[in-house]
Amino acid sequence: MAVVLQCGKCRHELIRETPTHSAVLTAHGEESQADPKPDGSKCSDVCQSSHWFLKDTAAPWISDLISKAEWTKGKLNCPNCDARIGSFDFVSTSKCACRSHVLPAVHFVKSKVDSKLQGTDLLAALKK
Ligand SMILES: [Zn+2]
Ligand SMILES: [Zn+2]
Repeated sequence: MAVVLQCGKCRHELIRETPTHSAVLTAHGEESQADPKPDGSKCSDVCQSSHWFLKDTAAPWISDLISKAEWTKGKLNCPNCDARIGSFDFVSTSKCACRSHVLPAVHFVKSKVDSKLQGTDLLAALKK
């Protein structure tokens, strides 16, 4: 699954997954294309209903912000229009619904970003 995430406000492209670069994680910190484990999949559904969990290497601008904050915590704003779209927190971790895993530190709020699969994004671009 190659996901493209765009700012919900200005439609600036925030993250683009490729077959060799995955960005989205499950609530258990696993790559989303990994086989969902029977015990973990339900939990991921709950946790991921409002958040996109991301690798700290999901995009260069995210890695930059994290290293500038010295791996503590901070807000993720759209690099284009500065809308607040998420946050990262390496200091106080929270646990997922099953209480046995720590949620990934970096996340976007789902209501603030638009998500597309890469194929449909291409079609939309062609229509413009
Ligand atoms: Zn924006
Ligand atoms: Zn869990």
